[in-house]
Order: sequence, then structure tokens, then C-alpha cells
Amino acid sequence: MREHFSSKGILVLGEVRSGHLHPAVFELTAKARLLADDLGSDVSVLLMYSDIDVSPERLVSYGADRVLCASDSRLRLFDQEVQSRILFRTIKDLEPEIVLAPATTSGRTVMPAVAAMLRTGLTADCTGLDIDPATGQLLQTRPAIGGNIMATIRTPEHRPQMATVRPRTFAIPEPDPGRKGSVTGMSLPDHCFESRVVALGLERRSGDDVNIQDRDVVVSGGKGMKRSENFHLLRDLAELLGGGVGASRMAVDHKWIGYPHQVGLSGKVVAPKVYFAVGISGSVQHLAGMHTAGLIVAINKDPEAPIFRVADIGLCGDLFDIVPRIVRSVMARKGVSG
Ligand SMILES: Cc1cc2nc3c(=O)[nH]c(=O)nc-3n(C[C@H](O)[C@H](O)[C@H](O)COP(=O)(O)OP(=O)(O)OC[C@H]3O[C@@H](n4cnc5c(N)ncnc54)[C@H](O)[C@@H]3O)c2cc1C
Repeated sequence: MREHFSSKGILVLGEVRSGHLHPAVFELTAKARLLADDLGSDVSVLLMYSDIDVSPERLVSYGADRVLCASDSRLRLFDQEVQSRILFRTIKDLEPEIVLAPATTSGRTVMPAVAAMLRTGLTADCTGLDIDPATGQLLQTRPAIGGNIMATIRTPEHRPQMATVRPRTFAIPEPDPGRKGSVTGMSLPDHCFESRVVALGLERRSGDDVNIQDRDVVVSGGKGMKRSENFHLLRDLAELLGGGVGASRMAVDHKWIGYPHQVGLSGKVVAPKVYFAVGISGSVQHLAGMHTAGLIVAINKDPEAPIFRVADIGLCGDLFDIVPRIVRSVMARKGVSG
């Protein structure tokens, strides 16, 4: 712990979507705890909701010192103006040194608005956060120039230092049920809820329920799949292994599979136990979305494909030969007949 930084703490913007506390809030609270320990400061989490499916106290066991709950039926549907105003007000009250939010759609909407209101900087979509031991400044790392380099950005002059972080960037540690912290309700004046937006309802887009981020196995296909119909090979394998189907941007751009399946810099970040990269070359942008997988199995006919540099198991050959053989072998092991 370094006592010499006069930090006023770290504020995490929590996200409650349709009554469900987003797992990224646990991840970010735990990361904020580590950063706060480096600074010798504390962690607050702000939650805005009308209903919530877990007790806000759980965030204390992940590292929060204080959970601030803005609970109001008018927060049922996401409204950027309202959430930005409440976050702005909380920042003015707490004067945190650092404000973090998950780089979800709402985090990506609210944080830039509030950064502009505060006339401070914001680093979006970070994949790494550290404290500079010399200055106590937040080191905000993110891919830049199309993902070809990693840039570390500081906000030396303006406060707070604000960053959004891609969900699943950091591991969620085991909670510590013995930690102590407070949960406080916030009373908000009516003017906080004034908005030019009239929210009529929330409709789920078809395909949005594709959840590859929670799967232990992800089987992804790239341009090597050649056409949409061939994705059935990957679906068969994924189904046998209880996994989900992912894709490279090339496959998505060719409309062989929908965008919710895209893995990578401009898609989803996945960290499954096993990741199959099938007919995927292994561009830096794709790796940005899957390099933390437990075991990477690459299937590619080009022995020089960059994916083999990160693969734990590399199968060099024609995917149309290899994938059906893997499917047959898994079926035989499971005693499933074809
Ligand atoms: C700002 C930016 C953001 C991006 N975001 C993403 C992102 O989120 N996700 C992403 O994936 N990409 C992203 N990209 C695109 C990225 O740069 C690559 O173009 C893309 O990942 C390539 O997809 P691919 O590997 O499927 O295709 P290719 O690079 O064309 O590779 C196809 C591979 O298939 C192999 N192959 C072909 N036929 C067979 C066969 N029969 N059997 C076995 N192997 C075969 C080939 O050897 C080759 O290695 C982004 C790019 C930019 C600039």
C-alpha cells in the first residue's frame, strides 16, 4: 500500500440490465480493489436499477468498500440522459480519482457523456489497467491502430481518470465473504429523471441471445469455412461438446453467420476452457478476442498461419477432412451413433 498518493478512491459504474447484475461488475470491482490497494484508497460501486437479481452486498465480497444504490422504478429502462446525470452527481459528491465502467453498450454510452460533462479524458475499451508506481496515475492500455499495437494512455492533468474495460478482460476472483463494507441507498431528486427520451420498451433483437461468452467450449469458423452451409460442421462439434459457435469477422462480413457470433477486437471477448479456431488465420484483431482461452486448438491448412503461434494444439490440414474426423471420434467416445 502506498500512502503518499492522496487519492479519493475509485468509483465503478455497475450495470443492471433487465434486473440482472452484469458479471462484468464483479470483474471490475475486483480489479478496482487491486488498483485501490496500490493507491491506498477505497472502492465505491454505483448501481442504478428498479429491480436487481442479487444482493448488492455481494459486491463487498469482491472488493467494494461502499455500494451506492440508486433504486427507482423510473430506472427500469436504460436512459442515457438519466444515468449520465446520476453518475455525474455521484462523481461530484465523491470526487473519485478514477471512474471505471464495463465497455458494454450502456457503459460505452454513459461514460463519454459524463467525461464530456466533467471535461476530462476517457479511454474506451481498455484491456489492461495498472497504477504507475512513480506517479499514482492510472495506466490505461488498449489496442490501437486497428489492433496492431497496444497503447498505454494516461490522463495526467484532468480528473477523474475515466476508462471503460472490455468484459472478461480480468479473471473474477473467489469472493471473500469476510470482507466488510457498506450498502447505502441514494435519494435522488425528481430532476435527475428528466429526459428528452421517451422509453417505450425494450425489445430483444433476434440473435442477441447468442451467448458464446459463458461457454466452456467455443468452436469458431473463419474464411476457410468457404460458405454458410459449412458452419453445420462447427455446430455439430459445438453441440457434442456443449459449446457455442463463434466466427471471425471475415465469416461475419460474408454473412455466413451473424454478428453476435463474432470474436475479436470489434466482436466479443471469450475466455472458454477450449477454443477451436477453424479456418481462421489468427490476425491480431481475432486474437484480441480469444487469446486468454485455456486451450487453443487451431485447424488450418497453411503451416505458416499465425494462429499456430498461439495454439496449444495445431492441426495442419484441410478442415473439411479434420473436423468431421474429430466429430466422429467425440461421438465414438460418447457412445453417440451418427
Ligand atoms: C479495426 C479492425 C477490427 C477488426 N475486428 C475483428 C474482429 O473482431 N474479429 C476478427 O476475426 N477479425 C477482425 N478484424 C479483421 C482481421 O484483421 C482479419 O481480416 C480477420 O480476422 C481474418 O479472418 P479469417 O482468419 O477468417 O480470414 P483469413 O485471414 O482470410 O484466413 C482464412 C484462413 O483459413 C485457412 N483455410 C482456408 N481454407 C482452409 C481449409 N480448407 N482448411 C483449413 N484451413 C483453411 C487459410 O489458410 C487462412 O489461414 C478487424 C480488422 C480491423 C482493421
